Amino acid sequence: MTSRRAVIAGAACSCALAGVAHAERIHPAAMQALVGPGYRPVDADERGMWQDFAKLETEIASSNRLLGSPAMQRYTEGVIARLLGPRADEARVYLLHDPAFNAAMAPNGMMIVNTGLLARCRDEAQFATVLGHECAHYLRRHSLQRWRDRRTKTGIMAFVGATTGLVAGVAAAAGAYPRTWIDVANAINGALVLSIMHFTRAQEAEADAYGVRLIEEAGYPPGAAAAMWQQVIEERRASARARGKRYRDAARSAMSSHPPNQERMLDLSASARELEAASVPPRRYDGGRDAWRDAVAPLRAALLDEQIKMNDPGVSLYLVHALARDGWDGTLRYCEGEAYRLRDEPGDAARAAAAYASAVASDDAPPEAWRAHGYALVKAGDAEGGRTSLARYLERKPGAADAAMIRGALAP
Ligand SMILES: [Zn+2]
Repeated sequence: MTSRRAVIAGAACSCALAGVAHAERIHPAAMQALVGPGYRPVDADERGMWQDFAKLETEIASSNRLLGSPAMQRYTEGVIARLLGPRADEARVYLLHDPAFNAAMAPNGMMIVNTGLLARCRDEAQFATVLGHECAHYLRRHSLQRWRDRRTKTGIMAFVGATTGLVAGVAAAAGAYPRTWIDVANAINGALVLSIMHFTRAQEAEADAYGVRLIEEAGYPPGAAAAMWQQVIEERRASARARGKRYRDAARSAMSSHPPNQERMLDLSASARELEAASVPPRRYDGGRDAWRDAVAPLRAALLDEQIKMNDPGVSLYLVHALARDGWDGTLRYCEGEAYRLRDEPGDAARAAAAYASAVASDDAPPEAWRAHGYALVKAGDAEGGRTSLARYLERKPGAADAAMIRGALAP
């Protein structure tokens, strides 16, 4: 078991980036792409790395976790085309069902986008921020550096880990990668492949600087980057608070490959100001709020449902309230009610009931809101109101799995 301990120690070292001293900010203008259109591996090292990612991609392409939304697929490809220009031809996007907030672009052009990212963005600029950051890792060939570092410094350790699946186990325990990615990687023994996408702090600083430039050049407001990561920090704080824990800045978490912290916020804001000042004449930016809302609307209820089922009410409530800054609707009110119901603290039952009542007052409430409202009314002693609301649920979703049971309960 000494090998297991050695692997854990090795992995922990590479994960614990929080203590790394803050380096001087990288200027966005200093970043140059190292990958052009039609780029191919230049040596045996890089070819080997591409082959491993090709195997991972084959698994992902046939995964049952694919979102299966041609409209969102096209939309995402459109955003990537704006960010990468002609180099976007090398990118292949896979939208995956995974509530963790994450995305990644592999050196061979495979891009993974989690539903957890789709759930959190309030506009296209926020979405482009995360994709742009990943594109920057790709354009700077960061994976290749990591690949070579791994082989020279921790090659033996990583090899032991990969052959026993331990690296994946450790990575999952540390929350370094979303569960779905680990599952897929395990299926092909690809933990080593994933482990090289855990970038160094210096690489993250490059990706931040370059990413802001990519979104600015694509016409998105460059300040969206700091706003997006700020939202991630606030969400982490809300989650920690709800679990009675102290928030640790840049601690290991679902996004620990991109540890957000206040220093990064300051750097991102400074880079955004620098780019805006350099834009002569001043560029007109568009955050794409309406385009994003239209694109995500058909998926919104399912995306939030995925998050709520994670049973982390601190995160769910934060997310619902963050999205509601752009206006409440029936889906958001219903999800707020569900989050309160699952949190189940003193007063939450009443809060949930109020949220359901508010949800069904909207034209766009999901059918489940009527069911939840009905049960809440029955619980509060309003049997008649409850029956009416449950009947509305059946009208809206006659084929629901629980329709027969509810019809039976409503029968005179
Ligand atoms: Zn990154």
